[in-house]
Amino acid sequence: MGLGDTQAMSLLNESAIRTPRPLTVSAPATDDEPPSRPRRHPAWQNVPDHQWDDWHWQSQNAVRSVRQLRHLLPFSESELEAMGSLEAEYKLAIPPYYFSLIDVNDPNDPIRLQSVTSPLEAENPSGYELEDPLDEDKDSPVPGLTHRYPDRVLMVTTHVCTMYCRFCTRKRTTMVRDGWDAISRDDERMLEYIRDHSEIKDVVVSGGDPLSLPPARLKFFLDGLKAIKHVDVVRLGTRVPVTLPQKLFDQNLIDMLADAEKVWIQTHFNHPREITPETERACKALLRGGMPVNNHTVLLKGVNDDLATMRLLMRELLRIKVRPYYIFHCDPVIGAGHFRTSIWKGLEIMEGLRGHMSGLGVPTYVVDSPHGGGKIPLMPNYLVSASDDAVILRNYEGMLVRYQAEDKPGTSERTRTRGVSALLTGAKSALVPENNERLARRESHVHGHSGCGSQSAEPEAPAENNQRLPLFMAKR
Ligand SMILES: *Cc1c(COP(=O)(O)O)cnc(C)c1O
Ligand code: SF4
Repeated sequence: MGLGDTQAMSLLNESAIRTPRPLTVSAPATDDEPPSRPRRHPAWQNVPDHQWDDWHWQSQNAVRSVRQLRHLLPFSESELEAMGSLEAEYKLAIPPYYFSLIDVNDPNDPIRLQSVTSPLEAENPSGYELEDPLDEDKDSPVPGLTHRYPDRVLMVTTHVCTMYCRFCTRKRTTMVRDGWDAISRDDERMLEYIRDHSEIKDVVVSGGDPLSLPPARLKFFLDGLKAIKHVDVVRLGTRVPVTLPQKLFDQNLIDMLADAEKVWIQTHFNHPREITPETERACKALLRGGMPVNNHTVLLKGVNDDLATMRLLMRELLRIKVRPYYIFHCDPVIGAGHFRTSIWKGLEIMEGLRGHMSGLGVPTYVVDSPHGGGKIPLMPNYLVSASDDAVILRNYEGMLVRYQAEDKPGTSERTRTRGVSALLTGAKSALVPENNERLARRESHVHGHSGCGSQSAEPEAPAENNQRLPLFMAKR
């Protein structure tokens, strides 16, 4: 892979570009359109179908430079200049298939916003964006592996993706160029760590995109994990079904994934227009190979931050048998601040999903917490009020009902609220339960740090002897 501009440009027929042909090929789909023939940007109109459907061709001809972009979409000179200066910082790759989903006449097209460099990436709107917003590096016992939750870990196996999402949480690492075939010592160490920790039941194989790995390296990880008895679930996090579905037309790859036995696919659709006959075919192939396909969506301003779009996306996912799993609030990443929307918007969308459509189509809305706190679910309040013996609940229509809370009223002990009220008064910025395993693990990995990991978990807190915090006692 990594083929340069020359090859891609050779297929951009110059006369096709200069002819003032109206660029309306990718207008939104209508019902009477035959679903079988994919739409194409005029630049690739004459590519034979067998090439178009070949992932090698798609990958080799991916748009990888601003110089190519200027022939494919209308830009102003100042936009091009700003985009050019971002080129060295953030990688760019858009396979022709995915590019052709863009409505070229719409500067705010949701596919375009996700994939094409924007001058806004040079800005840092709130000043709040970070390079490693999730502190993944700090919960990393061996390079590339994050052990944050009790029974599962995340492995970064590559920094290569088929399409570089402009909002990517790991935007900082997508700059790294790799893709060599060799198994590295760090690859082995990640597997050794999992082998040595029998509490790990679930391994998220991530990146980058693990389906962009050379087959031999992918097989190394899959075989390694298959052989570890205590690992029940291997989740491959991949956007290939969305951005390069042709890759999954290869039955050899499907067979390799199926043979690994524990594989679940975690994919990433953000907009209903990404669901095409090709993506449907790719997901069906995975399902037929026995791999459940779950989806996460990132809530992105201008892309999917409205209820109608999200409802349609969730319905379409169910139609192709992909289970909506998470909606992520967009992390505060440097260069992606323009994609962030409010928590209220996310809650409004959840309010409009639950009860209004199939429960199978309702994902969990989560915020990935700063300080490595992990995913925290958020949902509208359905618990409106509570007394000793009853709760007042609200349903999706807004109806309020009284519901008996316990069998024997009055027997419950009063809940202590001291700890949480310290947060509300602003006296503390975090409460950490006693004997927190995650911070203990972190302490054992991080050299030169003492205490219970408070320096990394809570940078503003002064280091102090607080080894044995009572449950919910405030951390000073
Ligand atoms: C998201 C994530 C997981 C998996 O979490 P689930 O809630 O089980 O999907 C595991 N480890 C890390 C570091 C993660 O970010
Ligand atoms: S596919 Fe995933 S890892 Fe790759 S750029 Fe997109 S969000 Fe980031």
